Amino acid sequence: MPETQPAHWVVLKFGGTSVSSRANWDRIAAILRARCAEGLRTAVVHSALSGITDALIRLMDRAQAGDAETEVAGIVARHRELAAALGIDLPPEVGQQLAELGRVAGGIALIGEVSDAVRARVLAAGELMATALGAAFLNAQGLVTTLVDARSWLIAQPVRGQRPSVLSASCGSDPDPALVARFAQLPGVILTQGFIAAGEGGQTVVLGRGGSDTSGAYLAARLSALRLEIWTDVPGMFSANPRAVPTARLLKSLHYDEAQEIATSGAKVLHPRCIMPLRQQRIPLQVYATQAPEHPGTIVSAEPADSGARLKAIAIRKGITLVSMDSPGMWHEVGFLADAFAVFRQHGMSVDLVSTSETNVTVSLDPQANALDSGEVAALVEDLGRLCRVRVIGPCASLSLLGRDIRAIIHRLGEAFELFEEQRIYLVSQAANDLNFTFVIDEDQGDRLVALLHDLLIQAIGNDPVLGPTWEQINVPQAGVAPRSDWWRARRAELLGLLDGRDAAYVCELATVSAQARALQSLGSVSRLFYAVKANAQPEILRCIAAAGLSFECVSPGEVLRVRQALPDLDTGRLLFTPNFAPRAEYEWALGQGLQLTVDNLYVLREWPGLFRDRAIFVRIDTGRGHGHHQKVRTAGTQSKFGVPLDEATELAEAAAEAGARIVGLHAHTGSGHFEIGAWVDAAEVLANVARHLPEVRVLNLGGGLGVPERPGQAALDLAALDAALGGFRAAHPQFELWLEPGRYLVAAAGVLLARVTQLKGKGELRYVGVATGMNSLIRPALYGAWHEIVNLTRLAETPAQLYTVVGPICESGDVLGHDRLLPPCREGDVLLIATAGAYGAAMASHYNLREPAPQLVL
Ligand code: ASP
Ligand code: MG
Repeated sequence: MPETQPAHWVVLKFGGTSVSSRANWDRIAAILRARCAEGLRTAVVHSALSGITDALIRLMDRAQAGDAETEVAGIVARHRELAAALGIDLPPEVGQQLAELGRVAGGIALIGEVSDAVRARVLAAGELMATALGAAFLNAQGLVTTLVDARSWLIAQPVRGQRPSVLSASCGSDPDPALVARFAQLPGVILTQGFIAAGEGGQTVVLGRGGSDTSGAYLAARLSALRLEIWTDVPGMFSANPRAVPTARLLKSLHYDEAQEIATSGAKVLHPRCIMPLRQQRIPLQVYATQAPEHPGTIVSAEPADSGARLKAIAIRKGITLVSMDSPGMWHEVGFLADAFAVFRQHGMSVDLVSTSETNVTVSLDPQANALDSGEVAALVEDLGRLCRVRVIGPCASLSLLGRDIRAIIHRLGEAFELFEEQRIYLVSQAANDLNFTFVIDEDQGDRLVALLHDLLIQAIGNDPVLGPTWEQINVPQAGVAPRSDWWRARRAELLGLLDGRDAAYVCELATVSAQARALQSLGSVSRLFYAVKANAQPEILRCIAAAGLSFECVSPGEVLRVRQALPDLDTGRLLFTPNFAPRAEYEWALGQGLQLTVDNLYVLREWPGLFRDRAIFVRIDTGRGHGHHQKVRTAGTQSKFGVPLDEATELAEAAAEAGARIVGLHAHTGSGHFEIGAWVDAAEVLANVARHLPEVRVLNLGGGLGVPERPGQAALDLAALDAALGGFRAAHPQFELWLEPGRYLVAAAGVLLARVTQLKGKGELRYVGVATGMNSLIRPALYGAWHEIVNLTRLAETPAQLYTVVGPICESGDVLGHDRLLPPCREGDVLLIATAGAYGAAMASHYNLREPAPQLVL
């Protein structure tokens, strides 16, 4: 007789947002079918519709004042709307619960208060109604589903040392063969409520806010499931809160301890209580996003991909209050801590972090564990005041570095400590479990420091077994974020056609160049605009920019000749020549041509004075402060070779006078690709200051540097704000004209690099996709660490499902166009598109390895 295999169970928990729309319910049905097709049995645990638990809490508050009607009506409407969207009738259970809510609200109004037992019953209604809808929908879809009341299988158990609570119950998590046998008899998908359980006397209890995760963990443990899947609205756990730090990286794999620590330290994806039952049974936990089920998510288990010492996440908790206790007599005194902590206990306050010195003990009070209203804190302080001198500090934030063996990496945090230079650190604690290192600082500095620390310590790490792509790279659809409108999405077919018979090409859309030029022309505060030809000297682009009325800034005789060839009728007055460390002959040539020249070194005035007699020149000044997307494009400060330093300003006037030159303009360019509007105004102020020694100066050329968004969702430079700021400067300094020299701003987004997939390779953790051209065409990623969006144009409509490192054919390990890019599975011959490549792409291309760089085409 063939032996029947015992069923393998998988438990899937869906959160509130996951169960609130038809689109998500269709995805849930598909996920369940896929699990069944693998021969698995599925048990689903789910939450109330999003916002309903909050609405029920409001309902009880309002009911005490006899005015719960609008809340009840809102709850009714939400469930009716979802039923309609799901194409089902409102199940009778939902009607019963809604009627019951109305009755309970009336009762509360009569009595004027809500007991914990009633509160638990009212809260449970959210999950009871939602699961009734879910089961009815799945059955209507032909997916056999059995609705099981959670109160029939999850019974609260008293925990030693804890007061039993019907609002925050705990339950057992031992393997339960009887439950396995019972569920094995029930047909199809088992569907049950999260968050709710039965008390020992059979009454309804709940597991505390966010408790559905814990229900899922209990069920997985009791069924000895293969895994627990937690389906939520973010595709996994991240190295920081992704909504605050968009460069937060996906944590691909974590140990239970680490996940618990991260969840406890402020991440909201998982409830920290759900880890323990899983860890005890060594059941892995997988976190996924319901709206993007193809994303690999985070796996939490006993065997993470990397168990070495390292930092994995930075978390912040706000609203922390510190209590600092000073007592000169406490040193070597027996029992001071015991006495002080007894006071905290009397006041029902739970202490989180502790630091001690000879004469001071400072503790933190976490708002999640304590009701910290000012009256209660004052009462605590009064009682503590009998033992010592007390100071309350707050609001503070605790900032935690989380990871494994934190002790072993403290020495690497040196640079990070510099970020705290101007900060008061009130308390530092290294957790005894060695999983976190926490600083307590002023609350208003918290977010800024998290972002800086994350950039420094995590974002910078390259390919990694634990750290996956960033939140922005994953770009899962989120409510409220506008979809992308890149020109190349609409012109996909044309682009693919252009690449027919080729391996690689740059393609530039001239309409985008013109649109950017028009946008710049709207800057009323700027008198003249010069296109920085070095960004892209393609003749069609030059003609398009000239037609829009811009002039040209050239840095070499070659660029001047290129502009002249493309535009033979161009007036010489529309050319600027701005060489740097160029030979004397170039200056002679330029002056002979009548070009407006900018010098950037006193040397040329002092050593070649004859050249400049009676000439009107511009001088480039180093304002001392650099800006930009990368160290190598910050073009001010002593580390930068450009410009005359500010402390030579007086010598500059003398040297020009001796050479007989008239300085009519000053120039500053502080860096590329930034969005700090104040930087241009600062530069103008600095130049205006220098001009006080130079009475003939009438033009301040503020260079370029106008940033272009590179990442999906990144905001564009606010041109109107720039105009307003520069307008303010001009109003204060009407004697000067302002000029700008944008390059990237005009052409970056207009250009893309297309390259055909050549080969694929898997190596260790990594998957490589090779394309026909690399750093010989586009060196920015290798040179500046620049980030370019990469998509598979051939498979633009397919779901990105695989992380790739995108490499070219050049014999350099730096020949990488993008790390950890999520793309649909790629095949030889597919066309990858590398976006925002119109500036400094073709212009910086080389013949390295004697490989021809991609040719430039225009649309
Ligand atoms: N519905 C409950 C809450 O909002 C439990 C949960 O969603 O996990 O807290
Ligand atoms: Mg949750």
